[in-house]
Amino acid sequence: MALLSSGSGLTLFPCGLKGSKEHYHWQTQNVKVSGVDDMVLLSKINEDAITDNLKKRYMDDYIFVSSHPGQTYIGAVLISVNPFKQLPYFTDREVDLYQGAAQYENPPHIYALADNMYRNMMIDSENQCVIISGESGAGKTVAAKYIMSYVSKVSGGGAKVQHVKDIILQSNPLLEAFGNAKTVRNNNSSRFGKYFEIQFSRGGEPDGGKISNFLLEKSRVVSQNQGERSFHIYYQLLDGASAEQRENLGVTTADYYYYLNQSATFTVEDVNDKKDFAETMEAMVLAFPSYLLGISQDGLCSKLTSRNMDSKWGGKTESIAVTLNTEQASFTRDALSKALYSRLFDFLVDAVNKAIQKDREEFNIGVLDIYGFEIFQKNGFEQFCINFVNEKLQQIFIELTLKAEQEEYVQEGISWTPIDYFNNKVVCDLIESKLNPPGIMSILDDVCATMHAKGEGADMTLLQKLQGQISSHEHFSSWNKGFVVHHYAGKVEYDVSGFCERNRDVLFNDIIELMQSSEFAFIKNLFPENLDAEKRGRPSTASTKIKKQANNLVQTLMKCTPHYIRCIKPNETKKPRDWEDKRAHHQVEYLGLRENIRVRRAGYAYRRAFAKFLQRYAILTKESWPKWRGEQRQGVLHLLKSVHMDQDQYQLGKTKVFVKAPESLFLLEEMRERK
Ligand code: ATP
Ligand code: MG
Repeated sequence: MALLSSGSGLTLFPCGLKGSKEHYHWQTQNVKVSGVDDMVLLSKINEDAITDNLKKRYMDDYIFVSSHPGQTYIGAVLISVNPFKQLPYFTDREVDLYQGAAQYENPPHIYALADNMYRNMMIDSENQCVIISGESGAGKTVAAKYIMSYVSKVSGGGAKVQHVKDIILQSNPLLEAFGNAKTVRNNNSSRFGKYFEIQFSRGGEPDGGKISNFLLEKSRVVSQNQGERSFHIYYQLLDGASAEQRENLGVTTADYYYYLNQSATFTVEDVNDKKDFAETMEAMVLAFPSYLLGISQDGLCSKLTSRNMDSKWGGKTESIAVTLNTEQASFTRDALSKALYSRLFDFLVDAVNKAIQKDREEFNIGVLDIYGFEIFQKNGFEQFCINFVNEKLQQIFIELTLKAEQEEYVQEGISWTPIDYFNNKVVCDLIESKLNPPGIMSILDDVCATMHAKGEGADMTLLQKLQGQISSHEHFSSWNKGFVVHHYAGKVEYDVSGFCERNRDVLFNDIIELMQSSEFAFIKNLFPENLDAEKRGRPSTASTKIKKQANNLVQTLMKCTPHYIRCIKPNETKKPRDWEDKRAHHQVEYLGLRENIRVRRAGYAYRRAFAKFLQRYAILTKESWPKWRGEQRQGVLHLLKSVHMDQDQYQLGKTKVFVKAPESLFLLEEMRERK
């Protein structure tokens, strides 16, 4: 039987990696490379050894290491290090090589994980998902694209299916143009989260799909930090628009636009105070936006500079127009711009969904690619939300690979020595719990519900309340401008300024009414609110929405067989072959890789319910073919004895059979193939 060859430091490898680029090709012969393919083969399982193995391979241009191979029905864990250069092993040749191949035949690769998902889905009729995590710039979006293109290449289908595949693949550049931007950490940073479900027919053809998007960082529309840009689409339009488009849309150059030139010209602090709203209005020429939006210029001017407020007068409530000061007017303008942009983004996602939706869901493979964990010089409300979602994803990883797996051994009566790990549920609770003690989001919502219309001083009230109510929490502390959360991936100092405003996320009714008066159905449809109905009750806040979305996502993911890609960012220079040991070590540590590998090494790679096991391997003995007639447990035992599997390789639990090494399972699979 073929075994994982990497134990001896040998592996199947693209030949010539150290030679000239033209000579890259995969060969079915062993070529020496540093390090091991599978972390479980390390002689010592600690963070130093794991980091060192990653480094050796990275320096040899090999970016993948398995920390938990697939075919185990608890899903694979693949570690991927960002190479910051195009590597040669992502061609059609590798697609062929990995398609339908057993894990041990080839070195770990993202295609192996994708192939494993596809086959699991077909064999087990179970939905699969892959959770791609890692910090900003670690390579999540690139990984997601490889998965999608692999699945599209190996699955069949006629013209209709091809149409769906085309849309699925084309939706990437479309949504990236509107949802990605240059940040200091990543030149193509995803500023929204995306869960892409590729739906399949019973025959395994992708005939539909669905995208769920999460919290677009819409504040980027109106301001960006130094060295960062707004969403790509603006620059694409400015660079690429035809003469006619330029004239119709009034396009000039980037430095002309206040929304685009701030990060290059002014510091962030200067932006709010010094720019005079009237000046901006003049610079924009109000006629153009009103023309583009199909609303009256007077209407736009009056709604941007005044607001209807209810006032009580002699027992009656009257609505009066109050003139806004410069700051309030800028705020209103920004709120409108952000709303327009984020609603346009939702519209695009919707349009893609409509083009690929199908009536009845059968199976699907979901690919989760969100914004990575972020620590900037200044961290605001957006970073807080982004890091919260990352915290929730880490929680799924822990729940499924560490907690649930160990609990299952206990439940099934398998003898087991528990392995310790840090459970970040405590951090999730600190952020999202409703009561006893209330979490940060709850306190934030309370402050927002009672804050003054202008919102002055609310952020400081928030800070005081947080200090008063949760300062004793071991993962919370504060600093002079805000609070600190001790996340699983490190401590982040959040600056509270702007938290309340951004959480409240109001768009005044006047503005909504104005947009509803547009002569363009498209603009009208972006504002479908029924204002009368929505006056009642507490308005939903941004953090309530993200909390709900994150919890729905967790529920969806928990229903699938999960697979993981843990992306590692080797440096901050974005250069190839640059390895910063401390950075890598830190990521290895917080990703929980050591615990994951330890649980796996001590545990069982493969587990299946007796019935499913019997069904799959029935063909191996004449007593079990076509169906085992006796008690199921006895049937499994009979099967394992008949194929002479080593006794220390398996244990029977109460309802499931557990097999220790993947190789033992491969043996069964090979026998089955030969029948
Ligand atoms: P964010 O959380 O900011 O969205 P991310 O994890 O999605 O970050 P990517 O956009 O996937 O990061 O990767 C950042 C950049 O790193 C890519 O634009 C690309 O230049 C490079 N990169 C990542 N993965 C690979 C790869 N497998 N091969 C070559 N280059 C890569
Ligand atoms: Mg990304």
